[in-house]
Amino acid sequence: MSAASSPRVEAVIDLGAVRANVARLRDVAQGSQLMVVVKADGYGHGMQPVARAAREGGADWLGVAVLEEALALRSAGDEGRLLCWLATSGESYDAAVRADIDLTASSRGQLGEVVAAARSAGVCARLQLKVDTGLSRNGCLPSDWPHLVAAAADAQRSGDVMVTGVWSHLACADEPDHPANDAQQQVFDEALGVAAHSGLDPEVRHLANSPATLTRPAAHYDLVRTGLAAYGLSPAPRVADAAGFGLRPALTLTARLAAVKRVPEGMGVSYGHTFVTDRPTTLGLVPLGYGDGVPRVAANRAEVLVHGRRARVVGSICMDQFVVDLGLVDDVAVGDEAVLLGTGEAGEPTAQDWAEWTGTIAYEVVTRLGGRIVRRYTGVRS
Ligand SMILES: *Cc1c(COP(=O)(O)O)cnc(C)c1O
Repeated sequence: MSAASSPRVEAVIDLGAVRANVARLRDVAQGSQLMVVVKADGYGHGMQPVARAAREGGADWLGVAVLEEALALRSAGDEGRLLCWLATSGESYDAAVRADIDLTASSRGQLGEVVAAARSAGVCARLQLKVDTGLSRNGCLPSDWPHLVAAAADAQRSGDVMVTGVWSHLACADEPDHPANDAQQQVFDEALGVAAHSGLDPEVRHLANSPATLTRPAAHYDLVRTGLAAYGLSPAPRVADAAGFGLRPALTLTARLAAVKRVPEGMGVSYGHTFVTDRPTTLGLVPLGYGDGVPRVAANRAEVLVHGRRARVVGSICMDQFVVDLGLVDDVAVGDEAVLLGTGEAGEPTAQDWAEWTGTIAYEVVTRLGGRIVRRYTGVRS
Protein backbone atom coordinates (compact mmCIF):
# COMPACT_ATOMS: atom_id res chain seq x y z
CA MET A 1 0.00 0.00 0.00
CA SER A 2 1.37 3.40 -0.90
CA ALA A 3 1.34 6.18 1.63
CA ALA A 4 -0.72 8.30 -0.74
CA SER A 5 -3.55 5.80 -1.04
CA SER A 6 -3.90 5.25 2.71
CA PRO A 7 -2.45 8.05 4.77
CA ARG A 8 -1.78 7.55 8.46
CA VAL A 9 -4.04 10.46 9.34
CA GLU A 10 -6.50 12.36 7.22
CA ALA A 11 -9.01 15.17 7.52
CA VAL A 12 -11.53 14.86 4.72
CA ILE A 13 -13.45 18.03 3.99
CA ASP A 14 -16.64 17.69 1.99
CA LEU A 15 -16.88 20.87 -0.06
CA GLY A 16 -20.34 19.79 -1.19
CA ALA A 17 -21.41 20.09 2.44
CA VAL A 18 -19.88 23.58 2.63
CA ARG A 19 -21.79 24.63 -0.49
CA ALA A 20 -25.02 23.15 0.90
CA ASN A 21 -24.55 24.88 4.26
CA VAL A 22 -23.90 28.18 2.51
CA ALA A 23 -27.02 27.71 0.40
CA ARG A 24 -28.97 26.92 3.57
CA LEU A 25 -27.67 30.10 5.25
CA ARG A 26 -28.58 32.16 2.19
CA ASP A 27 -32.06 30.79 2.53
CA VAL A 28 -32.20 31.56 6.26
CA ALA A 29 -31.00 35.12 5.66
CA GLN A 30 -33.06 35.80 2.55
CA GLY A 31 -33.04 39.47 1.71
CA SER A 32 -29.59 39.99 3.23
CA GLN A 33 -26.20 39.40 1.70
CA LEU A 34 -24.11 36.54 3.04
CA MET A 35 -20.52 36.63 4.24
CA VAL A 36 -18.64 33.40 4.92
CA VAL A 37 -15.87 33.84 7.47
CA VAL A 38 -12.73 31.88 6.56
CA LYS A 39 -10.25 33.18 9.15
CA ALA A 40 -7.89 30.88 11.05
CA ASP A 41 -7.37 28.68 7.99
CA GLY A 42 -11.07 28.33 7.41
CA TYR A 43 -11.71 27.24 11.02
CA GLY A 44 -9.13 24.50 10.46
CA HIS A 45 -10.76 23.29 7.23
CA GLY A 46 -8.25 24.97 4.87
CA MET A 47 -8.89 28.58 3.85
CA GLN A 48 -8.54 28.48 0.07
CA PRO A 49 -10.68 25.43 -0.77
CA VAL A 50 -13.36 26.52 1.68
CA ALA A 51 -13.33 30.06 0.28
CA ARG A 52 -13.85 28.71 -3.25
CA ALA A 53 -16.67 26.43 -2.11
CA ALA A 54 -18.27 29.32 -0.23
CA ARG A 55 -18.24 31.47 -3.37
CA GLU A 56 -19.69 28.55 -5.37
CA GLY A 57 -22.42 28.19 -2.75
CA GLY A 58 -23.35 31.83 -3.16
CA ALA A 59 -21.33 33.78 -0.60
CA ASP A 60 -21.41 37.48 -1.54
CA TRP A 61 -18.57 38.28 0.84
CA LEU A 62 -15.68 36.53 2.53
CA GLY A 63 -14.53 37.66 5.97
CA VAL A 64 -11.15 37.27 7.63
CA ALA A 65 -9.49 38.57 10.75
CA VAL A 66 -6.05 39.71 9.62
CA LEU A 67 -4.48 41.36 6.59
CA GLU A 68 -2.30 38.37 5.68
CA GLU A 69 -5.41 36.22 5.33
CA ALA A 70 -7.08 38.76 3.07
CA LEU A 71 -4.00 39.15 0.89
CA ALA A 72 -3.61 35.36 0.64
CA LEU A 73 -7.16 35.11 -0.69
CA ARG A 74 -6.40 37.76 -3.31
CA SER A 75 -3.17 35.97 -4.26
CA ALA A 76 -5.17 32.79 -4.75
CA GLY A 77 -7.37 34.64 -7.21
CA ASP A 78 -10.43 35.60 -5.18
CA GLU A 79 -11.77 38.86 -6.58
CA GLY A 80 -15.05 39.23 -4.68
CA ARG A 81 -15.94 41.42 -1.76
CA LEU A 82 -13.67 40.71 1.18
CA LEU A 83 -13.69 42.24 4.67
CA CYS A 84 -10.81 42.25 7.15
CA TRP A 85 -11.17 43.47 10.72
CA LEU A 86 -8.12 43.05 12.90
CA ALA A 87 -4.92 45.05 12.56
CA THR A 88 -2.56 46.66 14.99
CA SER A 89 -1.23 50.19 14.78
CA GLY A 90 1.81 50.29 12.50
CA GLU A 91 0.74 47.50 10.16
CA SER A 92 0.86 48.51 6.52
CA TYR A 93 -2.52 48.87 4.82
CA ASP A 94 -0.97 49.77 1.44
CA ALA A 95 -1.20 46.34 -0.18
CA ALA A 96 -4.71 45.77 1.16
CA VAL A 97 -5.94 49.11 -0.13
CA ARG A 98 -4.52 48.34 -3.58
CA ALA A 99 -6.09 44.87 -3.48
CA ASP A 100 -9.62 46.29 -3.02
CA ILE A 101 -10.03 44.74 0.42
CA ASP A 102 -12.58 46.33 2.75
CA LEU A 103 -10.74 47.41 5.88
CA THR A 104 -12.23 48.17 9.27
CA ALA A 105 -11.58 51.20 11.45
CA SER A 106 -12.56 51.27 15.10
CA SER A 107 -10.86 54.55 15.94
CA ARG A 108 -9.79 57.85 14.41
CA GLY A 109 -6.17 56.66 14.64
CA GLN A 110 -6.99 53.68 12.48
CA LEU A 111 -8.96 55.83 10.07
CA GLY A 112 -5.90 58.06 9.75
CA GLU A 113 -3.70 55.08 8.90
CA VAL A 114 -6.12 53.91 6.19
CA VAL A 115 -6.32 57.45 4.75
CA ALA A 116 -2.51 57.62 4.63
CA ALA A 117 -2.36 54.25 2.85
CA ALA A 118 -5.01 55.35 0.36
CA ARG A 119 -3.08 58.51 -0.44
CA SER A 120 0.23 56.71 -0.84
CA ALA A 121 -1.43 54.13 -3.11
CA GLY A 122 -3.34 56.82 -4.97
CA VAL A 123 -6.68 55.05 -4.57
CA CYS A 124 -9.92 55.44 -2.66
CA ALA A 125 -9.90 52.85 0.14
CA ARG A 126 -13.01 50.85 0.94
CA LEU A 127 -13.50 51.25 4.65
CA GLN A 128 -16.01 49.96 7.17
CA LEU A 129 -16.56 51.47 10.59
CA LYS A 130 -16.99 49.27 13.63
CA VAL A 131 -18.92 50.34 16.68
CA ASP A 132 -18.58 48.62 20.06
CA THR A 133 -22.17 47.93 21.06
CA GLY A 134 -21.24 45.92 24.13
CA LEU A 135 -18.69 43.21 23.37
CA SER A 136 -15.87 45.39 24.67
CA ARG A 137 -13.47 43.98 22.13
CA ASN A 138 -12.67 46.03 19.04
CA GLY A 139 -14.97 48.81 17.88
CA CYS A 140 -15.48 52.46 18.68
CA LEU A 141 -17.27 53.20 21.94
CA PRO A 142 -20.57 55.02 21.47
CA SER A 143 -19.11 58.08 23.22
CA ASP A 144 -16.46 58.45 20.49
CA TRP A 145 -18.66 57.27 17.64
CA PRO A 146 -19.91 60.71 16.48
CA HIS A 147 -16.26 61.85 16.16
CA LEU A 148 -15.19 58.78 14.20
CA VAL A 149 -18.20 59.06 11.93
CA ALA A 150 -17.58 62.76 11.29
CA ALA A 151 -13.90 62.16 10.50
CA ALA A 152 -14.82 59.30 8.16
CA ALA A 153 -17.39 61.49 6.41
CA ASP A 154 -14.65 64.12 5.90
CA ALA A 155 -12.29 61.50 4.48
CA GLN A 156 -15.03 60.32 2.17
CA ARG A 157 -15.67 63.86 0.92
CA SER A 158 -11.96 64.29 0.16
CA GLY A 159 -11.99 61.05 -1.83
CA ASP A 160 -9.56 59.09 0.35
CA VAL A 161 -12.06 56.51 1.54
CA MET A 162 -15.47 55.19 0.68
CA VAL A 163 -17.35 54.16 3.80
CA THR A 164 -18.81 50.87 2.63
CA GLY A 165 -20.11 49.47 5.90
CA VAL A 166 -21.05 50.07 9.51
CA TRP A 167 -20.99 47.05 11.75
CA SER A 168 -20.71 45.52 15.20
CA HIS A 169 -20.42 42.11 16.84
CA LEU A 170 -22.62 40.37 19.42
CA ALA A 171 -21.41 38.95 22.73
CA CYS A 172 -24.15 36.45 23.58
CA ALA A 173 -25.83 35.46 20.33
CA ASP A 174 -25.61 31.76 21.19
CA GLU A 175 -28.03 32.50 24.05
CA PRO A 176 -30.97 33.99 22.18
CA ASP A 177 -32.74 35.10 25.38
CA HIS A 178 -29.73 36.89 26.82
CA PRO A 179 -30.63 40.54 27.43
CA ALA A 180 -27.33 41.69 25.90
CA ASN A 181 -28.70 40.84 22.44
CA ASP A 182 -31.51 43.40 22.57
CA ALA A 183 -29.28 45.91 24.31
CA GLN A 184 -26.54 45.64 21.69
CA GLN A 185 -29.01 45.85 18.83
CA GLN A 186 -30.46 49.03 20.29
CA VAL A 187 -27.01 50.61 20.58
CA PHE A 188 -26.34 49.51 17.00
CA ASP A 189 -29.51 51.16 15.74
CA GLU A 190 -28.54 54.38 17.49
CA ALA A 191 -25.06 54.23 15.92
CA LEU A 192 -26.61 53.72 12.49
CA GLY A 193 -28.72 56.82 13.12
CA VAL A 194 -25.62 58.86 13.95
CA ALA A 195 -23.89 57.62 10.78
CA ALA A 196 -26.89 58.46 8.62
CA HIS A 197 -27.11 61.89 10.20
CA SER A 198 -23.50 62.55 9.16
CA GLY A 199 -24.42 61.74 5.58
CA LEU A 200 -22.99 58.22 5.48
CA ASP A 201 -24.99 55.76 3.43
CA PRO A 202 -22.96 52.53 3.57
CA GLU A 203 -23.56 49.58 1.27
CA VAL A 204 -23.89 47.19 4.20
CA ARG A 205 -24.89 47.42 7.84
CA HIS A 206 -24.23 44.19 9.72
CA LEU A 207 -24.36 42.68 13.18
CA ALA A 208 -25.18 38.95 13.00
CA ASN A 209 -22.71 36.08 13.36
CA SER A 210 -23.76 32.43 12.85
CA PRO A 211 -25.93 32.08 15.96
CA ALA A 212 -27.73 35.38 15.33
CA THR A 213 -28.20 34.46 11.68
CA LEU A 214 -29.96 31.26 12.75
CA THR A 215 -31.93 32.55 15.73
CA ARG A 216 -32.45 36.29 15.34
CA PRO A 217 -33.89 37.44 12.00
CA ALA A 218 -34.25 41.00 13.32
CA ALA A 219 -30.44 41.21 13.47
CA HIS A 220 -29.86 40.32 9.81
CA TYR A 221 -29.73 43.91 8.45
CA ASP A 222 -28.03 44.06 5.02
CA LEU A 223 -25.48 41.30 5.59
CA VAL A 224 -24.87 38.35 7.90
CA ARG A 225 -21.38 37.09 8.78
CA THR A 226 -21.37 33.32 9.18
CA GLY A 227 -18.38 31.26 10.16
CA LEU A 228 -19.10 28.11 12.13
CA ALA A 229 -22.47 27.39 10.56
CA ALA A 230 -20.93 27.33 7.07
CA TYR A 231 -18.73 24.45 8.24
CA GLY A 232 -21.87 22.61 9.32
CA LEU A 233 -21.48 22.91 13.08
CA SER A 234 -24.10 24.25 15.47
CA PRO A 235 -23.16 27.72 16.75
CA ALA A 236 -25.84 27.51 19.45
CA PRO A 237 -25.81 23.91 20.65
CA ARG A 238 -28.20 24.66 23.49
CA VAL A 239 -30.77 25.77 20.91
CA ALA A 240 -30.34 23.02 18.29
CA ASP A 241 -27.77 20.63 16.91
CA ALA A 242 -26.37 20.95 13.40
CA ALA A 243 -29.12 18.85 11.81
CA GLY A 244 -31.72 20.86 13.72
CA PHE A 245 -30.43 23.98 12.01
CA GLY A 246 -30.33 22.23 8.62
CA LEU A 247 -26.54 22.03 8.56
CA ARG A 248 -24.11 19.18 7.89
CA PRO A 249 -20.57 18.95 9.31
CA ALA A 250 -18.01 19.17 6.50
CA LEU A 251 -14.98 17.71 8.25
CA THR A 252 -14.24 14.09 9.12
CA LEU A 253 -10.99 13.24 10.90
CA THR A 254 -9.65 9.70 10.73
CA ALA A 255 -6.44 7.92 11.62
CA ARG A 256 -5.23 4.38 11.02
CA LEU A 257 -4.26 2.43 14.11
CA ALA A 258 -0.50 2.25 14.47
CA ALA A 259 -0.57 -0.64 16.94
CA VAL A 260 -3.13 -3.09 18.29
CA LYS A 261 -2.30 -5.32 21.25
CA ARG A 262 -3.98 -7.62 23.73
CA VAL A 263 -3.05 -6.75 27.31
CA PRO A 264 -3.86 -8.31 30.68
CA GLU A 265 -5.64 -6.71 33.61
CA GLY A 266 -3.54 -4.32 35.67
CA MET A 267 -1.56 -2.65 32.86
CA GLY A 268 -0.83 1.04 33.30
CA VAL A 269 -1.44 2.96 30.06
CA SER A 270 0.48 6.00 28.76
CA TYR A 271 2.32 8.71 30.71
CA GLY A 272 1.51 8.87 34.40
CA HIS A 273 -0.53 5.66 34.29
CA THR A 274 -3.73 7.67 34.68
CA PHE A 275 -5.52 4.55 33.43
CA VAL A 276 -4.89 0.97 34.48
CA THR A 277 -6.70 -1.85 32.71
CA ASP A 278 -9.36 -3.41 34.94
CA ARG A 279 -9.73 -6.50 32.74
CA PRO A 280 -7.89 -8.13 29.87
CA THR A 281 -8.56 -5.98 26.83
CA THR A 282 -7.29 -4.82 23.45
CA LEU A 283 -5.56 -1.47 23.12
CA GLY A 284 -5.31 0.49 19.87
CA LEU A 285 -2.77 3.22 19.23
CA VAL A 286 -4.05 6.28 17.37
CA PRO A 287 -1.23 8.27 15.71
CA LEU A 288 -2.54 11.73 16.61
CA GLY A 289 -1.86 13.85 19.67
CA TYR A 290 -1.96 17.29 21.14
CA GLY A 291 0.69 18.31 18.61
CA ASP A 292 -2.04 17.90 16.01
CA GLY A 293 -4.73 19.64 18.05
CA VAL A 294 -6.25 16.69 19.90
CA PRO A 295 -6.93 18.20 23.33
CA ARG A 296 -4.89 16.59 26.10
CA VAL A 297 -7.73 17.23 28.53
CA ALA A 298 -9.83 14.65 26.61
CA ALA A 299 -7.87 11.80 28.23
CA ASN A 300 -10.02 9.02 29.70
CA ARG A 301 -13.15 10.73 28.42
CA ALA A 302 -13.32 11.13 24.65
CA GLU A 303 -14.21 8.32 22.27
CA VAL A 304 -13.44 7.33 18.70
CA LEU A 305 -15.26 4.98 16.33
CA VAL A 306 -13.54 1.75 15.29
CA HIS A 307 -15.41 -0.85 13.23
CA GLY A 308 -18.68 0.88 14.05
CA ARG A 309 -18.07 0.68 17.81
CA ARG A 310 -17.10 3.43 20.21
CA ALA A 311 -13.70 3.03 21.87
CA ARG A 312 -12.70 5.27 24.75
CA VAL A 313 -9.45 7.19 24.98
CA VAL A 314 -7.50 5.68 27.88
CA GLY A 315 -4.47 7.19 29.56
CA SER A 316 -2.82 10.50 28.76
CA ILE A 317 -3.00 11.96 25.29
CA CYS A 318 0.60 12.41 24.17
CA MET A 319 2.10 14.85 21.67
CA ASP A 320 1.82 12.44 18.74
CA GLN A 321 -0.39 9.57 19.85
CA PHE A 322 -3.01 8.26 22.21
CA VAL A 323 -4.42 4.89 23.21
CA VAL A 324 -7.99 3.66 22.95
CA ASP A 325 -9.61 0.71 24.71
CA LEU A 326 -11.13 -1.54 22.04
CA GLY A 327 -12.43 -4.18 24.45
CA LEU A 328 -11.95 -7.92 24.11
CA VAL A 329 -12.20 -8.05 20.34
CA ASP A 330 -10.21 -9.85 17.72
CA ASP A 331 -11.48 -8.19 14.54
CA VAL A 332 -9.30 -5.09 14.79
CA ALA A 333 -5.86 -4.93 13.20
CA VAL A 334 -3.06 -2.47 12.68
CA GLY A 335 -4.00 -0.08 9.88
CA ASP A 336 -7.73 -0.18 10.62
CA GLU A 337 -9.50 3.14 10.70
CA ALA A 338 -10.42 5.11 13.80
CA VAL A 339 -12.85 7.97 13.21
CA LEU A 340 -12.23 10.78 15.68
CA LEU A 341 -14.96 13.09 14.52
CA GLY A 342 -17.35 13.60 11.65
CA THR A 343 -21.01 14.10 10.86
CA GLY A 344 -22.11 11.61 13.51
CA GLU A 345 -24.24 9.80 10.95
CA ALA A 346 -22.29 6.54 11.25
CA GLY A 347 -22.09 6.74 15.03
CA GLU A 348 -18.81 8.62 15.15
CA PRO A 349 -18.37 11.52 17.57
CA THR A 350 -18.93 15.07 16.33
CA ALA A 351 -16.86 18.19 16.99
CA GLN A 352 -19.61 19.15 19.44
CA ASP A 353 -19.07 15.87 21.34
CA TRP A 354 -15.36 16.69 21.65
CA ALA A 355 -16.29 20.18 22.82
CA GLU A 356 -18.45 18.73 25.57
CA TRP A 357 -15.81 16.18 26.59
CA THR A 358 -13.22 18.90 26.90
CA GLY A 359 -15.15 21.87 28.24
CA THR A 360 -14.83 24.02 25.15
CA ILE A 361 -16.77 24.94 22.01
CA ALA A 362 -16.82 23.25 18.61
CA TYR A 363 -15.12 26.36 17.18
CA GLU A 364 -11.96 25.54 19.13
CA VAL A 365 -12.05 21.82 18.41
CA VAL A 366 -11.91 22.22 14.62
CA THR A 367 -9.74 25.33 14.54
CA ARG A 368 -6.99 23.66 16.55
CA LEU A 369 -6.69 20.76 14.13
CA GLY A 370 -3.49 21.28 12.24
CA GLY A 371 0.10 20.39 12.64
CA ARG A 372 0.69 17.28 10.63
CA ILE A 373 -2.90 16.55 9.63
CA VAL A 374 -3.21 16.21 5.86
CA ARG A 375 -6.43 17.57 4.41
CA ARG A 376 -8.21 15.97 1.48
CA TYR A 377 -11.12 17.57 -0.30
CA THR A 378 -14.15 15.85 -1.77
CA GLY A 379 -16.88 17.49 -3.80
CA VAL A 380 -14.33 19.68 -5.59
CA ARG A 381 -15.80 21.41 -8.61
CA SER A 382 -13.48 21.56 -11.57
C1 LIG B 1 -15.28 35.05 13.73
C2 LIG B 1 -16.22 36.16 13.48
C3 LIG B 1 -17.47 35.94 12.89
C4 LIG B 1 -18.02 34.57 12.62
O1 LIG B 1 -18.57 34.05 13.81
P1 LIG B 1 -19.39 32.67 13.78
O2 LIG B 1 -20.01 32.58 15.09
O3 LIG B 1 -18.39 31.60 13.50
O4 LIG B 1 -20.37 32.81 12.67
C5 LIG B 1 -18.25 37.03 12.56
N1 LIG B 1 -17.83 38.28 12.82
C6 LIG B 1 -16.64 38.52 13.42
C7 LIG B 1 -16.24 39.91 13.72
C8 LIG B 1 -15.81 37.48 13.79
O5 LIG B 1 -14.64 37.74 14.41
